[in-house]
Amino acid sequence: LAEESLPRAWLKRWSEQPRHIVAISADGIEMTAEELEEKSAQIAARLAGAGLSAGDRIIISSEPSMDLLVAYVAAHRMSLTVVPLNTSYGPSEIRKIIQNVAPRAALVDDSARGRTISEAATEPIVVVGCDVDLPSAALPSLDLADRHTPALICHTSGTTGTPKGAVLTSGNLLASAESVRVAWRWTPDDRLILALPLFHLHGLGMGLNGTLVAGASVVILKKFSPAAVAESSKQHSGSMFFGVPTMYHRFASSTEIDALRPLRLCVSGSAPLSAELHNQILESSGQMVLERYGMTETVITVSNPYEGERRPGTVGLPLPNVDLRLANGDSGEIQLKGPSVFTGYLNNPGATAATLTPDGWFRTGDLGEMDPDGYLRIVGRSKELIISGGYNVYPREIEELLQEHPDVAEAAVVGCPSAEWGETVVAFVVPTTAGFGNDAELIEYAAARLAPYKRPRRVVFVDALPRNELGKIVRSELISN
Ligand code: ATP
Ligand code: MG
Repeated sequence: LAEESLPRAWLKRWSEQPRHIVAISADGIEMTAEELEEKSAQIAARLAGAGLSAGDRIIISSEPSMDLLVAYVAAHRMSLTVVPLNTSYGPSEIRKIIQNVAPRAALVDDSARGRTISEAATEPIVVVGCDVDLPSAALPSLDLADRHTPALICHTSGTTGTPKGAVLTSGNLLASAESVRVAWRWTPDDRLILALPLFHLHGLGMGLNGTLVAGASVVILKKFSPAAVAESSKQHSGSMFFGVPTMYHRFASSTEIDALRPLRLCVSGSAPLSAELHNQILESSGQMVLERYGMTETVITVSNPYEGERRPGTVGLPLPNVDLRLANGDSGEIQLKGPSVFTGYLNNPGATAATLTPDGWFRTGDLGEMDPDGYLRIVGRSKELIISGGYNVYPREIEELLQEHPDVAEAAVVGCPSAEWGETVVAFVVPTTAGFGNDAELIEYAAARLAPYKRPRRVVFVDALPRNELGKIVRSELISN
């Protein structure tokens, strides 16, 4: 990598093409590279006027917007540490994070959330809107970050427990953005249609950082819907779309699916894309979705190739600069090493020591299998593994099988305590037609296709699966049912 920090990589691109449009807001307002450089400096001057300086932590909690983008860029240029905060968090979740992070400032797009943050802070804190409507002061020194500067504290999705604050350096963020820029042939001509939340690294680390490092353009949508993506893609000549499987699921049953056809690249990540959904999208839009694998702690590490075979059911091959190993050779826990791997969890030495080995390997807690030619399959998470009668059962295998049944729209499988077997398999099923409730048929269907220890002993019909903002299934809610 020629540049060693995110802001310097951005500046280099902007200086090459100052009149280039880098961002378009949901309501069609465009911003050029030159304007972003200027506006971010103005915001930096106001933040400095409010007493912030390099090394301070700043919360950003907002729906996707142009103001958020400018503030995000300003904070990096001042060498602040950005802490995105999930906009759906309630007061008690916010309080925990504010007390753990001890930020000097918070930018919010919602006054009630702003008040909760003020009240939660134990040290004095500046809380303002994302437009940072504060008096300006002298311009602070900008763009001094180096690759060791802690640039972001991003909280994990909390799928397996309490969200943890992963501390990523500017070098970590640049390394991951650079690797996708190269791998996906991201050029200044690209225009990304982005409808992901920006408090998570999928939207922020891949979507925004990738766009800025590539010197490309992004269209920032406030909320996902197939119609919103279709409309903005048509209006602004989109070339790429990054989504999570639930978004592709929505597309699959929408008349807007044709919107995907002209794009040069559609990417899926954050949760497994079933081979079935993959094929559905391919058949109805001609789009071969590229599945990739990443996480808060490293942003992205493994991807199906841009050129070459994209293999449904796998997340592809490790990106350049990423060392990947499986605990048992060709299977077991996925472990990663490389310049994008985070430095540790904030105020959590126990979790840090449990995940980062002394020689720099990150233990992901995900279980994988390697095809003979190096394609990685995610079989599940070690915490979700069901052990029934001493045998390992991977929920994903059973979920995918159930989803192939015509009456099953979606399925989630969990282990329930059993005196006899330790755990038994229980399937939660969303039927395709409301009212379908033939559990015996599904149990029989699975029994005809699975080894006895993998068979669901119980099928529970539900209207919807509990999911978080990225469409990940929250299994703990099912287990407590
Ligand atoms: P927590 O760490 O708090 O339990 P989380 O792991 O869900 O939550 P994230 O960092 O947002 O938090 O998500 C990363 C995880 O998402 C990965 O470790 C993996 O389990 C899952 N994941 C990401 N991409 C894929 C994919 N393509 N296929 C399957 N799983 C994926
Ligand atoms: Mg995790």
